[in-house]
Amino acid sequence: MDGSEAARHWTPDEFRRHGHEVVEWVAQYLETLEARPVVGDVEPGWVRAQLPPSPPEQPEDFGAVLADLDRVVTPALSHWQHPGWFAFFPTGASGPSVLADLVSSGLGVQGMLWSTSPAVTELETHVLDWMADLLGLPERFRSSGAGGGVIEDSASSATLCALLAARWRAAGDGPFDRLRVYTSGQAHSSIEKAVRVAGLHPDQLRTIDVDADHAARPDHLAELMAADRAAGLVPCFVVANLGTTSSTALDPVGALAEVAAEHGAWLHVDGAHAGAHLVLPELRWIADGLERADSFCMNPHKRLLTNFDCDCFWVADRRPLVAALSVLPEYLRNAASESGAVIDYRDWQIPLGRRFRALKLWFVIRAYGAEGLRRHVRHQTALAQDFAGRIAAHPRLELSAPHPLDLVCFHHVDGDGASEALLTRLNATDRVFLTHTRLDGRFVLRVSVGTQATEGRHVDELWALIDRLA
Ligand code: PLP
Repeated sequence: MDGSEAARHWTPDEFRRHGHEVVEWVAQYLETLEARPVVGDVEPGWVRAQLPPSPPEQPEDFGAVLADLDRVVTPALSHWQHPGWFAFFPTGASGPSVLADLVSSGLGVQGMLWSTSPAVTELETHVLDWMADLLGLPERFRSSGAGGGVIEDSASSATLCALLAARWRAAGDGPFDRLRVYTSGQAHSSIEKAVRVAGLHPDQLRTIDVDADHAARPDHLAELMAADRAAGLVPCFVVANLGTTSSTALDPVGALAEVAAEHGAWLHVDGAHAGAHLVLPELRWIADGLERADSFCMNPHKRLLTNFDCDCFWVADRRPLVAALSVLPEYLRNAASESGAVIDYRDWQIPLGRRFRALKLWFVIRAYGAEGLRRHVRHQTALAQDFAGRIAAHPRLELSAPHPLDLVCFHHVDGDGASEALLTRLNATDRVFLTHTRLDGRFVLRVSVGTQATEGRHVDELWALIDRLA
């Protein structure tokens, strides 16, 4: 073999040259973002129609690939980083985070076991302890005790892992048919999905009633659990929503934890979006009672300037999680794992393999500093509060729910038809993009402020459009 059979790989110099081109392309994309419509407007099938039916047989010029990003990809994107993006929840994004992902890909390592790259595991443990400091989390979630943190791809995965740990704690390997799970009707769909993936029947999920502010009622949870216990069933898992998706309603974590504890159930707190607000000491009241929770998750990939995907997940006791998820084949055995002195994060998640995601948090925390992160969350929250004040004062609009954080829900006083028409007109301007929900049966517009690039002038522009079109 003389090597002529091998594929031709880029030389380090080619990588360097094309790498510079790619960074330049991304920088230009970000620079020109504000001038673009927020959401691309293409018919279904348009993207595929631009692409050749078969893959190229011969290597293509890299310039042609980059040119196709502009021709085929960007026209068909919803620009989540656009300053006029007020839809869903924000996507985390920042320069340091993008570059950390590049380094992670460049290193090409896989951190399934401590021994497969000690830096992947130890940096992750360390950065999750830093995050616990930044968010003022209870001591029990830190790695120095029985608990600790891990990075999952998403809050959905974190909730599923929490449920699997709770299921293990309540019933080991089964049977599981007597177990019951509880959350409010305002919970994110990922809770119901976790129930299904965990092999429980949808009837095993109980819905906790909410109060006028859409927060779960602990008294109703107590009733549901007592009735289940009386029927010989086993309360297993409660999810408290720290910021619901529809309206950032805040379940009373401490009161729910107390009820869960009375019945021996696991309390998981889903702070996917709102959890980032805990960087602000003045907002920590939203998670009062968190020291009684068994697990907590939040997504830096929403409010905390970290690119998708990055969910931080903490448990107060890692033993049931590891017991539920650990399967040890011979080919993974190694001295470090057997010494018991290391963490193997493969046992804290569903897949075996794992990316070097801790780099993103490490870069972001160091580039912004705790002060920079607080400034970002405080600024966006203040913009939302200012916006809510304008809605409250408008003769044709009404606030639909409390707005403790960075999301404002409102509707038109003339009813659903007028609210829907307003949403359609706003989005048709191409300058802003909003989404909706239903609260108490009413069609409601959501303004989720905002992206990294959103400033006061963008909220002013949104307000001017709303005032004109309402
Ligand atoms: N929980 C809540 C409250 C959410 O708002 C969301 C997404 O918006 C999720 C869970 C799911 O997040 P992920 O996409 O990280 O699974």
